[in-house]
Amino acid sequence: MNKLTVNQQAEEKLRKGLFLLEKKDFPHLSLTNQCVEVRNAAGKFLGTAYLSAQNKGIGWLISHERITADAAFFRGLFAQAKDRRSAYRQAAHTSAYRLFNQDGDGFGGFTVDLYNDFALFSWYNEFVYAIKEEILTAFRDVFPEVAGAYEKIRFKGLAYESAHVYGAEAPDTFIVLENGVRYQVFLNDGLMTGIFLDQHDVRASLVDGLAAGKSLLNLFSYTAAFSAAAAMGGARQTVSVDLAKRSRELSEAHFRANGLALDQHQFVVMEAFDYFRYAKRHHLQYDVIVLDPPSFARNKKQTFSVAKDYHRLIREALEILSPQGLLIVSTNAANLSKSKFKEEIEKGFAGLGHRYLAEYGLPADFVYNKKDRSSNYLKVFTIKVDK
Ligand code: SAH
Repeated sequence: MNKLTVNQQAEEKLRKGLFLLEKKDFPHLSLTNQCVEVRNAAGKFLGTAYLSAQNKGIGWLISHERITADAAFFRGLFAQAKDRRSAYRQAAHTSAYRLFNQDGDGFGGFTVDLYNDFALFSWYNEFVYAIKEEILTAFRDVFPEVAGAYEKIRFKGLAYESAHVYGAEAPDTFIVLENGVRYQVFLNDGLMTGIFLDQHDVRASLVDGLAAGKSLLNLFSYTAAFSAAAAMGGARQTVSVDLAKRSRELSEAHFRANGLALDQHQFVVMEAFDYFRYAKRHHLQYDVIVLDPPSFARNKKQTFSVAKDYHRLIREALEILSPQGLLIVSTNAANLSKSKFKEEIEKGFAGLGHRYLAEYGLPADFVYNKKDRSSNYLKVFTIKVDK
């Protein structure tokens, strides 16, 4: 095994419990796609890591011990991950959740999600992809009840991004349960699946009646999962807005799966800021507005970045919110801290009275590294507005 010498800065991060190796700490690195022994400048052994570039970082520490990343090692990690999620396994009302979450479960660079009897592996770099047979062997030993598996390729360089990997094949679309609500998913059509599992808890609050009797506007709605949850929780009316044409039929599928009539539920294919203009022109108002934009987006007219532009979304939303209305504001931008996100929110309110009712991060199945703030990337607030 090659040796990797880390500078003082990187050593400090590893000591503090961070697992991600950042490019800026290794300016002259020539090794990649292999396991390495990590040492400090004095030659002291610090742990085992692997190197492989991905969207964030250039590798991961795997252990403070000397380990071999073989099937036996992964069997241990999967067994522990399975134990941690016994509450989800026993919950009859939820059949889709995360089984293994990167560094939170002891190995950064891949995740595994469960959708009924099927597993979905997401590979974030070339190294995990190269050792996937070991990982799959271990997984099948620990989860024999999983009937079949699919994979998503979340790094550049392969000719495909989605494939079947073993066992039974899932139907093109099928229904999963979350808190008793039915959602339509698909495991082999692009990188998405029809639902973002990390929003379990926010959808649960809607199913539990947060929007009962109210009208709800869901912006950046994708398949309108928030709207379906709200409708099941008694929302009187929902409007879901997304730029992507395909969002409409996928959204309707969630509603149909739950036997909800569509007359009070609308799906609009439109740019979010255009919708604000449209709503103002037509004097529309909503009791609850959900904002869940992508971290960064560029369309023909403009770019939007959560870090710089979120306040504009809040400001616009406030103009079409009912008196005493509720905002649900969400971001999954890992590079935006909770406090910076709050600053953006406050800038949007510009002194208007409001009260934070609740706050959500990643749900319990998305086990994250408690010592690395950026690994709990999801930040959601529900805010009651006084106007
Ligand atoms: N809230 C969704 C997930 C949103 S993903 C959920 O809980 O499932 C982000 C979505 O924003 C994508 O579906 C994308 O098509 C949409 N989008 C991106 N830019 C947009 C814009 N300017 N206006 C409206 N929708 C946009």
